[in-house]
Amino acid sequence: PMKQRLLVVANRLPVSAVRRGEDSWYLEVSAGGLVSALLGVKDVDARWIGWAGVNVPDEVGQRALTKALAEKRCIPVFLDEEIAHQYYNGYCNNILWPLFHYLGLPQEDRLATTRSFQSQFDAYKRANKMFADVVNMHYQEGDVVWCHDYHLMFLPKCLKEYNSKMKVGWFLHTPFPSSEIHRTLPSRSELLRSVLAADIVGFHTYDYARHFVSACTRILGLEGTPEGVEDQGMLTRVAAFPIGIDSDRFKRALELPAVKEHINELTHRFAGRKVMLGVDRLDMIKGIPQKILAFEKFLEENPSWRDKVVLLQIAVPTRTDVPEYQKLTSQVHEIVGRINGRFGTLTAVPIHHLDRSLDFHALCALYAVTDVALVTSLRDGMNLVSYEFVACQGSKKGVLILSEFAGAAQSLGAGALLVNPWNITEVAASIGYALNMSPDEREKRHRHNYAHVTTHTAQDWAETFVSELNDTVVEAQLRT
Ligand code: UDP
Repeated sequence: PMKQRLLVVANRLPVSAVRRGEDSWYLEVSAGGLVSALLGVKDVDARWIGWAGVNVPDEVGQRALTKALAEKRCIPVFLDEEIAHQYYNGYCNNILWPLFHYLGLPQEDRLATTRSFQSQFDAYKRANKMFADVVNMHYQEGDVVWCHDYHLMFLPKCLKEYNSKMKVGWFLHTPFPSSEIHRTLPSRSELLRSVLAADIVGFHTYDYARHFVSACTRILGLEGTPEGVEDQGMLTRVAAFPIGIDSDRFKRALELPAVKEHINELTHRFAGRKVMLGVDRLDMIKGIPQKILAFEKFLEENPSWRDKVVLLQIAVPTRTDVPEYQKLTSQVHEIVGRINGRFGTLTAVPIHHLDRSLDFHALCALYAVTDVALVTSLRDGMNLVSYEFVACQGSKKGVLILSEFAGAAQSLGAGALLVNPWNITEVAASIGYALNMSPDEREKRHRHNYAHVTTHTAQDWAETFVSELNDTVVEAQLRT
């Protein structure tokens, strides 16, 4: 039988495109877990629709890029620079991202953002409409359309207006905040209504799903049921679909000679010291200053550990043109400098802070040699770093200290040490507890997490979502 087609719609295509000439492009496909999960869904034929991340104003370039992308099963959406800026930097990253993570706007930006809100929301809707146009152009009867994330909340409605029979699902990769937070958004109702046009709406955790249903009942006055949200007899299914990782990919990487070699080097390099690890994009939501201050407190209170532990913090630069992120960078540098000045010796410093990303194999080696991983997100949709660390700890069985405000706390809570990242005293105490933990307890905690991470994979996640979407549509047809 013909495979069902899955159209995955996300803001960014999983490729980076570099222009090599008037009609020639170089493409690099990103090899992330999400990509392999979605392309690997059983019995479906997946293709990707999204923005290629580059401005291509000319038709020759657009045609050439479209052709090159087709070979990678990707279909581009072209956004002009002004719309892309207002939609992506403006509405998505400056308004929705902080709001969904419970971060207020910086005081000095508040009025400016309030003033430009309407034009940014208009650009957001126009951009979503452009995505819808491309989806509609490629849609064939029977296809499943899966819309991703806060960039595309307006898309389900646009798609259903084109074709009410289209099977449409929407999944949010960030938290959905309490309805009291969502309520402050000027576009609160319009966004909820357009998401509700989907057949099924998915979140990482039950809490996020519950927040969404509450927002719909309180703000729109609709009825919430255990299945979802009802509006005049029409049901939108709302459910939790916790994402996972491709754990085999990590296990396989640890078997490669080059990675083993790297693990040996690192083990040698940090012999005699326990390795603590943080891996985060340098984003406000990750609680990096809080993490480092807790580490400082631990060193302060435990002089005997000062030359026996090292914190490796990988801080991947992100949104570097935004002043708020630049400020965070210098704030972190200042704290790291102070602590290294205070507790360093002529030959060693307690914190190694890197402002860059690592390639996949280097990251795997680092996860494998780590004794204690430290995830202190102030809010985080899921946090895959915690999963990846667990997947790489088959032999070491290290400890995961995990923020209770990361979605992952719902799934790894049994094995991790859960902390409130705002409570530096508590985090410092957990660091001490983790470093001194008995091998028995480490093994037991690791076993819980490892079992979860290896059995709840990204591929299972994608398959479950798509099959629930298909089922939901069938049930809806039976009801009418
Ligand atoms: N990552 C990476 N290179 C690095 C550091 C991190 O590719 O140098 C990846 C990491 O493997 C993980 C992702 O970035 O898959 C971060 O995902 P997470 O859910 O933890 O946080 P997000 O950045 O999506 O907020």
